[in-house]
Amino acid sequence: QDNFDIVIVGGGPIGIACGLEAKKNGLSYVIIEKGPIVNSLFNYPINMQFFSSSEKLEIDDIPFISKEAKPKRNEALEYYRRIVTSNNLNINLFEKVGTVTKKNDFFEIETDKANYLAKNVIVATGFYDLPNKINVQGEELPKVSHYYKDPHFYASQKLAIVGASNSAIDAALECWRKGAEVTLIIRGPEVGKRVKYWVRPDIINRIEEGSIKAYYNANVTSISPTTLTINTPKGAIVLENDFVLALTGYRPNFKFLQDLGIELSQDNKKLPSYNPETMESNVKGLFLAGVICGGMETHKWFIENSRIHAPIIINSIKEKLKQV
Ligand code: FAD
Repeated sequence: QDNFDIVIVGGGPIGIACGLEAKKNGLSYVIIEKGPIVNSLFNYPINMQFFSSSEKLEIDDIPFISKEAKPKRNEALEYYRRIVTSNNLNINLFEKVGTVTKKNDFFEIETDKANYLAKNVIVATGFYDLPNKINVQGEELPKVSHYYKDPHFYASQKLAIVGASNSAIDAALECWRKGAEVTLIIRGPEVGKRVKYWVRPDIINRIEEGSIKAYYNANVTSISPTTLTINTPKGAIVLENDFVLALTGYRPNFKFLQDLGIELSQDNKKLPSYNPETMESNVKGLFLAGVICGGMETHKWFIENSRIHAPIIINSIKEKLKQV
């Protein structure tokens, strides 16, 4: 069984930042990632553009050169992949961590391929694996998806998009521009306030001119292979429909955290418990890094403000190892 100073669960930007920092500090580590390098980014919409400028996505001050002020998904894939390959980071891909069990002063990590021992574990598993369900009849139909990839697929189709924040609005505009007939189903009274400031006027104008239809204060009540039924202030409406994109956000895998013994706040934020000075959770030797730290508040942490977790954690682990 391999024995490491640190096992890092998740090979997203922040897991990679932790691996790089561990390597620079001479600690033994392995990053275990269940998909390809930066799996979440790989699964983002193919034309996705970050809201952050490229220098704010940099890790360890390694320059991220982008043609535009705000990089696209494929540029970010290049950037993070090159960090892994040119630094020869120790990363195991397509390997999923199942359980992490604390045994006295070390951890036993069990994956679908192997077992590991580690003095410390960093959980950097993000939130993109579990979509927030809308919990209506028909949600399991093959025409319904919680992930949006490519607008071409929806050309000349009646597409309903549920949601009003960045993912939903980006998808609505792109698909409309590729010839889909787009209807937005918005739970609140307006387009989300956090929609990127340069995108918000675009969607509002498209709605006002009638190019994209929007129902406000509306909820989906059921989905059939050819229709979508919504509840609006004016009563129930049945829409003809070919595809549904339910882009209602994502959530961390809370069960995974709880199984590790991490306490969550009792309110609906479900904030995992950790010391912000060290990023150590309530379980000694188990650290949290990246967007997972925000619990249900998935807008709170992003690459920009959570890349700092890597040096904080590696410093506290170094201090700890010195004391032993
Ligand atoms: P992730 O990148 O989600 O990485 C977690 C990794 O853990 C994944 O690769 C996953 O496959 C892996 N994993 C999960 N469970 C296991 C397991 N059991 N075993 C092994 N591996 C596992 N942030 C910005 O700063 N700027 C932006 O412009 C921006 N735009 C965004 C746009 C979208 C559409 C979304 C969804 C998010 C955006 N974010 C942005 C937020 C943030 O950048 C991302 O969520 C980022 O990927 C977070 O990095 P992370 O390393 O914390 O988590």
